[in-house]
Amino acid sequence: MTQSIDYDVLKKSGFLRQKQDGFFVLRTRMTAGVYKKKHLEKLSEISEKYGRGFVHATTRQGLEVPFIKLEDIVNVEKELEAAGICRGASGPRLRTTTSCPGNNWCKQGLVNTFALAARIEDELGVRCAMDLPHKFKIAISGCPNACTRPQSSEIGIHGQLDLSTPDKRAGFVVYLGGCGGRMPRDGFRINKVFSEDEVLSITEKVVTFFKKNASPRQRLAMLIEEVGREKFLENIFGQEKP
Ligand code: SF4
Repeated sequence: MTQSIDYDVLKKSGFLRQKQDGFFVLRTRMTAGVYKKKHLEKLSEISEKYGRGFVHATTRQGLEVPFIKLEDIVNVEKELEAAGICRGASGPRLRTTTSCPGNNWCKQGLVNTFALAARIEDELGVRCAMDLPHKFKIAISGCPNACTRPQSSEIGIHGQLDLSTPDKRAGFVVYLGGCGGRMPRDGFRINKVFSEDEVLSITEKVVTFFKKNASPRQRLAMLIEEVGREKFLENIFGQEKP
């Protein structure tokens, strides 16, 4: 290894240094964790050609190929781009948004989690590897069973029937300020069932607030504790906070 290698640039582009010197793990991700046949075939091929012939499924619904050598990274990048495979990231950035199947096929699913995940990325530009003061996670579940653990992410969302509407329509519950790690926090629930458009607006405002106000290496939970929950909520919802 030479001094000129910028490991942070590599990390941002999905190549993380391994415990074993000289090797990198390729971290990939696809919106809502949906990998098509061509993606899986390409990752299998990459693992044979550049890795050690296996792929590892991450806790955030991505696939990683370990044991990539530094000198192979450029070629791996070209192959990933040609196959349309997105790369994950690490460091002070947005992680990939996790989504359970929701009503795409789960019998319990109340809302289309994949559609919401895609809108967050495509309409807000809030997608994996976005630079932020510290790591930041979004998790979406299709019903109150909360299989993606939305309470443990900075922004956690799950489908919920809105019993206050005549037709008990499905909407979204939002939790803010959760995190795991060494100082875990449960996110607090906002007392309203939101529409999909409202969830997008909340997501955009919370990410913007975090980007503008958090100190380096400060998770959203600690920022909320610093500014106070009421003040934080006023910033997101204005005086009309639920
Ligand atoms: S959270 Fe609900 S919709 Fe999603 S996988 Fe779990 S049970 Fe199914």
